[in-house]
Amino acid sequence: MQGAFIEHERILGQLGAECAELRKGSDLQGGFDGIILPGGESTVQGKLLRELHMFGGMKEMIASGVPVMGTCAGLILLAGRLSHDTAVYFGTLPVTVCRNAYGRQLGSFSASAHIRGLRGEGQEFPLEFIRAPYISEIHDREHTVPLAVLDKMPDGSKGENIVGVRYQNQVGLAFHPELTDDSRCHKMFLGMCSGKSMS
Ligand code: GLN
Repeated sequence: MQGAFIEHERILGQLGAECAELRKGSDLQGGFDGIILPGGESTVQGKLLRELHMFGGMKEMIASGVPVMGTCAGLILLAGRLSHDTAVYFGTLPVTVCRNAYGRQLGSFSASAHIRGLRGEGQEFPLEFIRAPYISEIHDREHTVPLAVLDKMPDGSKGENIVGVRYQNQVGLAFHPELTDDSRCHKMFLGMCSGKSMS
């Protein structure tokens, strides 16, 4: 209902997947195999999810194992904790996330990295960051798989900056795979939706 959903639909369409936009509570009964939470503004999205009567139903679906991929603001909605913030949205992904961690000047930047579990893993994936969140902590290291790592922290210092994770049925990405021409993240997600994926 808000943010960069058209871009996700474009890539999913190219891959031959059928998409439906979820805009109200009754849309959740539509029968679908997975949910993408797009980038945008998490505070607005969180508010709309409640106002449009989708919040509880969607949270239950995610908790019960429906595959979900959250990109940027979508990652914020999934996060179990937000640093410097008392808000929590779905809270189903065991990570702490810091919103807008890269500051105003460095709000948007590009990078590239290997992403675990993608076909052609050896080929780096283009990463687009827009006022991106930073995954500052992983609470359940045993079950959370880092998918992509940058060697630079939000403050520019050297360090291991995990920019994508998978936890069971949930993928959280700090970047925007829908803004690139590389469809491999979406392909991986469709694999999860059809039950054919890395575990
Ligand atoms: N800064 C946004 C937020 O806090 C996320 C930005 C994005 O999704 N590109 O929700």
